[in-house]
Amino acid sequence: MTKLSNRVLDMEESVTLAASARAKALKAQGRDILSLTLGEPDFVTPKNIQDAAIEAIQNGKASFYTVASGLPELKVAISDYMEKFYGYAVPANEIVVGTGAKFILYAFFATVLNPGDEVIIPTPCWVSYVDQVKMVDGVPVTFQTTEANDFKATVKQLEAARTDRTKVLLLNSPSNPTGMIYSKDELQAIGDWAVEHNILILADDIYGRLVYNGNEFTAISGLSEAIRKQTIVVNGVSKTYAMTGWRVGFAVGNPEIIAGIAKIISQTTSNLTAVSQYAAIEALTGDQSSIEVMRQAFEERLNTIYPLLNEVPGFEVIKPQGAFYLFPNVKKAMEMKGYTDVTEFTNAILEEAEVALVTGAGFGAPENVRLSYATDLDTLKEAVRRLKAFMEK
Ligand code: PMP
Ligand code: GLU
Repeated sequence: MTKLSNRVLDMEESVTLAASARAKALKAQGRDILSLTLGEPDFVTPKNIQDAAIEAIQNGKASFYTVASGLPELKVAISDYMEKFYGYAVPANEIVVGTGAKFILYAFFATVLNPGDEVIIPTPCWVSYVDQVKMVDGVPVTFQTTEANDFKATVKQLEAARTDRTKVLLLNSPSNPTGMIYSKDELQAIGDWAVEHNILILADDIYGRLVYNGNEFTAISGLSEAIRKQTIVVNGVSKTYAMTGWRVGFAVGNPEIIAGIAKIISQTTSNLTAVSQYAAIEALTGDQSSIEVMRQAFEERLNTIYPLLNEVPGFEVIKPQGAFYLFPNVKKAMEMKGYTDVTEFTNAILEEAEVALVTGAGFGAPENVRLSYATDLDTLKEAVRRLKAFMEK
């Protein structure tokens, strides 16, 4: 008898984390691998945030459990943040803090889905959504968006995916992996559609502050009172504040759903690590100047590397507007090299060019690979040079 549950047997390991671990293991063996796998800023957490955390440890505040749903002071900071960037403040009972946006998303699905309930997830999408929905016996309903529409879902496509079991629509803008941003008009149409059919919107806004070249992020929850009531916003400090290791995520929205998420937190992780909560308060309320410095660095990397990547034979890429990923279509490149499977192609690039990418397969995109440009320019330039040499060989 197998010792493992069907749940675990049916689940995929996160392909982003697996690709990063593989690159690290090869590096440890002495290979000269350039890893463009993980979506995490290469900057260290800003000094003012580090200092706030150290102070919380030294003055003893970080020694103790906090309320499971998060420190009241942190909820005030989140409400102020919402007011500033979303245009509305929120009471404490509409906010919950947890161990990364990733766990918050999982707790959300566990809170709202009964077995068989459907979640519409336009693809390409981030690697963890589909498995998280399956883990709580929900049904992910995916469909392909088109490159012609910048990988964005249309109301027509959503309507075709809707059934009487549809409970949630997942939106991630700016998107991981495509970097595309939905416009205000597109979001308005989608929001109105969701309200009309009483479908919850899960807005994963984690890349909302990482937008480039004059592009703007619109929060769907800010578009109307009706849409806001129907939307749960998921956000965090990992990407914007270079705090992936601190594991701070939060959700904002309907108080019953928020209380459900808090209940799950109280029975699983208990509160998010106290020191991380104190660090997050400083991140959200303290000096914001380092955030803009990092955003500008990402923008410069994008603007430098995007044209170079487009020169790699067989790589076709739409210029992203936000997040920190490039998501080239490599159909022609695979043909040129005799591959039909993008994961095998990604492995060949790793073995022969010593550049670690993430296969598009995990994002529901069998013709694409993902490069993270959250790494320094020299590494990025050398990685693209190697890709070009690999394709020209
Ligand atoms: N959503 C998206 C789209 C992401 O790319 C990530 C990556 N980390 C997360 C959520 C989770 O972020 P974290 O758990 O670090 O807050
Ligand atoms: N979200 C980042 C990525 O997609 C970090 C890894 C993960 O959580 O998937 O690379």
